[in-house]
Amino acid sequence: MQTAILKPHRDYPIRHGHPWVYSGALATEPDAAPGETVEVRSHTGEALGYAAWSPHSQIRLRLWTTSPSEPVADSDLVARVDTAIARRQPLLDAPQTTGCRLINAEGDRLPGIVLDRYGESLVLQLTTAAAQRLKPAIVERLAARPGVRTIWERSAGDSAQREGIQPSDGLLWGAPPAPDATFLENGLTYRIDIAAGHKTGFYLDQRDNRHLIGTLSKGLQVLNTFCYTGGFGLEALRAGAAQVDQVDSSPEALALAEENARLNHLHDPRHTLHCANVFEHLRRLRDARARYGLVILDPPKFADRKTQLQKALRGYKDINLLGIKLLAPGGYLATFSCSAAMDPATFRQIIADAACDARRPLQIIRELQPPQDHPQLLGFPEGNYLKGLLLRAL
Ligand code: SAH
Repeated sequence: MQTAILKPHRDYPIRHGHPWVYSGALATEPDAAPGETVEVRSHTGEALGYAAWSPHSQIRLRLWTTSPSEPVADSDLVARVDTAIARRQPLLDAPQTTGCRLINAEGDRLPGIVLDRYGESLVLQLTTAAAQRLKPAIVERLAARPGVRTIWERSAGDSAQREGIQPSDGLLWGAPPAPDATFLENGLTYRIDIAAGHKTGFYLDQRDNRHLIGTLSKGLQVLNTFCYTGGFGLEALRAGAAQVDQVDSSPEALALAEENARLNHLHDPRHTLHCANVFEHLRRLRDARARYGLVILDPPKFADRKTQLQKALRGYKDINLLGIKLLAPGGYLATFSCSAAMDPATFRQIIADAACDARRPLQIIRELQPPQDHPQLLGFPEGNYLKGLLLRAL
């Protein structure tokens, strides 16, 4: 096996649980093929673990293990697929939820590999050279599982390009996905388009938050911005909201939101859908002096990298300032950021600045996070991309 050697003092992050090594930390690059497993050593020669080699990415190494004695043959790595799935068994047994994340990349010690389940369909996202190399063995493993009808790949995208691998999307095994496929989340039925929907088709990371925030909605006027296929809004309607206004700029997402409302017998006069830019829509509502008992702000990633953070911060502040101004006395604000480049303290500070500018004191009711099928490695802040706050206007 080839060996990668770190520069002096560059072993600290690895020893503290960070699974990435950037190009600048390497003293000696291994003479290995993309995706091969290599040994990692400190500059004094101490064995630090094993990693996947990505010669075309700035993240040159992704650690499989920090234990030099742990076996990391391909069969050992593929066996981690079964381990990750077995850890979701309680969720897999819950009849009211048939959509969940089965593998969460670094969080399951499988960097570059995401696997989501929607009923009988599995969607694989393989964004590193190593993940692509292991693809045939992973697919074989998954196809042997009971209750699997379709295995679909959604690997095309920016990260595949950064990694220098051929991005690919399409059927890997089994039957093509049914055009009218649905799955259940907290007892609500959702249409799912695994071929063309965002991410692998749905934002599974908001499952618990959708349900929690829905339960607060009884009797309230609810504004759900960046609604995608309507999840937060459907939970609110089911819980007895007086009114739910959903806003998104994507006509396709809104068409699915309407269909989802119909599928759940919730598309009634309380439910409105608005195809609009949220930044402009919030200004119109402010000018009309609208008031809501619950405002949800779940924007897309405004910052991909640290360099885009300043511009992104202005975007977050803007929507939060406008959202806070729309709150009725005692109204709730559920506000999120899914930018990994934004740390939780900065996020909290932006909301505090927005509340200050709006002259509306806010109470923190709860910090919001992804559900338990999205585990994160301690010592790996990049994995903590989704953060949210549930606040109440005083
Ligand atoms: N809350 C959703 C997920 C939101 S994803 C859920 O629970 O499933 C972000 C959404 O923001 C996408 O649907 C995207 O179409 C929409 N979007 C992005 N920029 C927008 C803008 N400027 N105005 C309105 N919608 C926007």
